[in-house]
Amino acid sequence: MHIPFLDLGSVHSEMAEELDQAWRDVVLDSAFISGAYVERFESQWAQYCGSDHAVSVGNGTDALYLALVALGIGAGDEVVVPTNTFIATAEAVVAAGATPVFVDVDPATLLLTGDSLTTGITPRTAAVIPVHLYGQMVDMDTIGRIADRSGIAVIEDAAQAHGATWRGRPAGSFGTAACFSFYPGKNLGAFGDGGAVVTSDGELADRVRMLSNHGRSLDSHHHHPIVGTNSRLDGLQAAILSVKLKRLDIWNAARRRAAELYLRELSDLAVEPVPVAPAAKSVYHLFVISLDHRDRVQRNLTEMGIGTGIHYPTACHQQGAFTTDREPPSLPVAERAAGRILSLPLHPLLSETDVKNVAQALADAIENEAELGKPAGDLRSEEGSETR
Ligand SMILES: *Cc1c(COP(=O)(O)O)cnc(C)c1O
Repeated sequence: MHIPFLDLGSVHSEMAEELDQAWRDVVLDSAFISGAYVERFESQWAQYCGSDHAVSVGNGTDALYLALVALGIGAGDEVVVPTNTFIATAEAVVAAGATPVFVDVDPATLLLTGDSLTTGITPRTAAVIPVHLYGQMVDMDTIGRIADRSGIAVIEDAAQAHGATWRGRPAGSFGTAACFSFYPGKNLGAFGDGGAVVTSDGELADRVRMLSNHGRSLDSHHHHPIVGTNSRLDGLQAAILSVKLKRLDIWNAARRRAAELYLRELSDLAVEPVPVAPAAKSVYHLFVISLDHRDRVQRNLTEMGIGTGIHYPTACHQQGAFTTDREPPSLPVAERAAGRILSLPLHPLLSETDVKNVAQALADAIENEAELGKPAGDLRSEEGSETR
């Protein structure tokens, strides 16, 4: 048995001709940096997100960094970040010169909550970054209300939530700005790095565009009124993304079907799948469960040919990068979850048989673990079982 965690090759081979053609067009036009393919994808992406502007950038981390800088957030400012996220969320805050303030997450969804946001707000707070982790959106009504009351910006980290909705509204349409990654493994992935900042604030979009393009003014090639950087999406990637975007809803629906099947198949096992709130529609970037003896069960699955992942084994506030100059705060929900979560194989072409095989393998792995965990006396008393 071999069920990989992710299978990009099969997804791409299904549409190989269209992708090859898109790539050839860009080469023929030599439209490598900015130009028509990038502009087309930007307008498609803004529309998909229910927002007015999408500014494409080099990657998702830069999208967060540039959104923060464009909002004037930097030295002396604090930004509230859920500790259960990919390190990039916090990294971008530091790159902008601000300080990430880590807060705990909901014990069920493992996402930022209104209560945890409130614990992180101080007079220096300039923004919060709700992270729509695993494909599920944060409760944006509650976050928006608290942010409004506190006068802070909301920057959605939607790197795992392409097409996810909260009360029917898509990720990217709630925050002051929303940041996406098109890293190959995301629900919409390029053939390399890519990212975008989405916003309905035209001035903010212009500032992100200038910052991402050497601080260059939007109407004059040799005029640089501000200091920026170089973080742009390639024409080649934009063309690939436009082709793949046509299938995003189909792929997300396939992920959702696989996830629903997992929920049925796993219902009798001693595992807790991360639940989805009634107002949220998840695009299941990841299918995450919590269980006992996670590391040993994972090793067992690897031996059986099942690919899995952990997102993430160390909460950000406990990473060396953030513990050098201070004692990490105690954020017990995320700390406990980090030792128990496991991401099962999930991609648009995962078949019903694959899901059933993963569920069976997981049942076997948990049973093996239970056998090993028993006192030796119990083990010997079982008929036919050998002591180790
Ligand atoms: C992938 C990811 C990022 C960073 O995106 P890159 O394109 O890899 O820089 C940021 N936040 C989250 C939650 C992610 O999953």
